[in-house]
Amino acid sequence: MSVERVETLIVGGGQAGLAMSHMLTQRGCPHLVLERDRIAERWRTERWDGLRFQFPNWSVRLPDFPFPHADPDGFATNSEIIDFITAYAAYIAAPVRCGVSVITLRRSYDGTGFAAETSEGPIEADNVIVATGPYQRPVVPALLRDEVSIFQMHASQYRNPNQLPPGAVLVVGSGASGAQIAEELFRSGRRVYLSVGRHTRLPRRYRGRDLIWWLSAMGLDQKTADERGPDRTKPLITGAFGGNTIDFRRFAAEGVTLLGRMQGAQQGVVNLASDLSKRLAYGDGSYTAFLDMVDAHVERHGLDMPEEPTARRVLPDPPCLIEPLQHLDLHAAGICTVVWATGYNIDFGWIDVPVLNTRGEPVHHQGVTEMQGLYFLGLRWLSNFKSSLLSGIGEDAARLADHIAARTR
Ligand SMILES: Cc1cc2nc3c(=O)[nH]c(=O)nc-3n(C[C@H](O)[C@H](O)[C@H](O)COP(=O)(O)OP(=O)(O)OC[C@H]3O[C@@H](n4cnc5c(N)ncnc54)[C@H](O)[C@@H]3O)c2cc1C
Repeated sequence: MSVERVETLIVGGGQAGLAMSHMLTQRGCPHLVLERDRIAERWRTERWDGLRFQFPNWSVRLPDFPFPHADPDGFATNSEIIDFITAYAAYIAAPVRCGVSVITLRRSYDGTGFAAETSEGPIEADNVIVATGPYQRPVVPALLRDEVSIFQMHASQYRNPNQLPPGAVLVVGSGASGAQIAEELFRSGRRVYLSVGRHTRLPRRYRGRDLIWWLSAMGLDQKTADERGPDRTKPLITGAFGGNTIDFRRFAAEGVTLLGRMQGAQQGVVNLASDLSKRLAYGDGSYTAFLDMVDAHVERHGLDMPEEPTARRVLPDPPCLIEPLQHLDLHAAGICTVVWATGYNIDFGWIDVPVLNTRGEPVHHQGVTEMQGLYFLGLRWLSNFKSSLLSGIGEDAARLADHIAARTR
């Protein structure tokens, strides 16, 4: 049987795989993109209907392709992002083969390249770029595994409030997904309990500008992986409901019951850590530190930006913080659904090339592995703050394409 050969194989047809394709085309490097489902599949099937892009329209772009919009300060809907990525694939005429999975990736027998076993037969390539996403496998703790009477789902399966059975909802996890889903549910009239973990939060707008404007003005969006610091929590931001600052005290004032971290459960009764006030204080501290940083920047550069003292107003401690629950009986509280907003893992089990560490994470420097010709793209902090973000993918893709072009020449 003859084996198909390509110079460069890109695995994954999301924003990263497509940006990579465009960069290779611009450098005259032949390649093929394999996507196991459809272009932008994760935006189609692993995000909820009401999700809004977290960055304002004016800042959204793929390489050589700005996001078309009527309102620069608005936040795109999920379906607008799907249309945007799909239109990008057409604009760059990406050579994408949809519906083809890479099942395993190995070194080729002669050791000069790679052999991909795909759902449609083998393909050999000199170079492979793994662009299968920063958020691959939903993580669901086993804490309520035996609670079969409660409807449970990961945030990636959540679509909208109507999908859930009637009754109260427990949202576990206070990252961007947990916070946004909790807000959507309580605004839809649901009784919501939110288990809050360690988080950092940032203002949506401050002194007349959006957060993204400030990140860029202060050069924080250029932070490299080496400058990252020890705190690995992702800051909480949302573009939903016009884009507002996430403040769990406001959530509580509007009726959400905040809970400490979930530690265990027995017969439908959940044990909660007594860390709620500590968690909120940590989040508030990150928020205030950011305001301080902006104020110092304004002062240093003599910028004419209006002061905004109201941004520092702290809402009073809600009852659920003054006397936090230690246990929660799910049935007694009328909780019929648990949404696990507990994050994602990577899953590179299909890569049979010695580039993964003992935790299954790729070992690389800015996406370049020690195995000549094998690259990763789109992972969190691959090279910098923006590496896994839609508008930031172009820089890493360009750098890897330069590497490949130099290597193949
Ligand atoms: C809830 C949520 C909200 C987010 N919101 C924003 C936001 O507002 N702004 C922002 O910039 N970023 C956001 N992100 C982060 C990031 O932009 C997205 O995760 C984005 O989908 C990453 O694009 P990607 O191309 O790197 O990976 P993915 O979109 O995950 O694409 C990878 C593709 O690879 C395919 N694939 C996987 N394995 C194989 C295989 N073995 N063979 C063939 N194909 C394969 C998948 O089907 C998928 O289509 C969000 C992430 C999440 C989870």
